[in-house]
Amino acid sequence: MGLLDGADAVLFDLDDTLLDYSTARDAGIRAWVQQVDAARHTGDAVRVWRELEERHFRRYSQGEVSFDEQRRARLRAFWPHLSEAADDELDRAFAAYFAHTEAAWSPVPGAVETVQALVRRMPVGVLTNGNAELQARKLRVLGLADVALFASSELPAAKPDVRAYEVACTELGSTPSRTVMVGDDLTNDVEGAMLAGLRAIWFARGADRTSPAPVISDLRELLA
Ligand SMILES: [Mg+2]
Repeated sequence: MGLLDGADAVLFDLDDTLLDYSTARDAGIRAWVQQVDAARHTGDAVRVWRELEERHFRRYSQGEVSFDEQRRARLRAFWPHLSEAADDELDRAFAAYFAHTEAAWSPVPGAVETVQALVRRMPVGVLTNGNAELQARKLRVLGLADVALFASSELPAAKPDVRAYEVACTELGSTPSRTVMVGDDLTNDVEGAMLAGLRAIWFARGADRTSPAPVISDLRELLA
């Protein structure tokens, strides 16, 4: 039995499912701290930045702040010299950091070949919390620009709100019960999807938590 037996459509998460976002983010922050002030944030810059990103991106996903504002809030908390900076200065600083990150964007092993193989079999989409323009750029870098993109900035709500999955299923011409969501985030890609009536597969590289859904550690397992 294949994991996708009985499925009419597949939805993939993007960051840390298709694009190795965490590795790029960590490399980006290291390079940027080095460039701005290597004496500051010795050692735990990556951990501090990760925590700030998690906290403020969640606020964006929940509609509390704008996309740009969650970036600025991270910077104000991260750099003392930017704690009172004006928006345009913060935006320039973020662009400098982000260029380092983007230079390190790369696919998760097996992601591109898996998506390309599945596209020949059934409708495939990418359902991601984030800004549509930025997420589309990531898909282009992966060589997956033709895959249907559903980014939360253009949806009625972000994952794990049921509306996010429902819209994506409808747009793919499928129904929730015939659609499989694949992603690395237990809340957004597994539990939320299941509450919306989808089947879910947890892409958990090295994780040892228990899951209510089948777990894979390599996306190519979907092709079996
Ligand atoms: Mg993810």
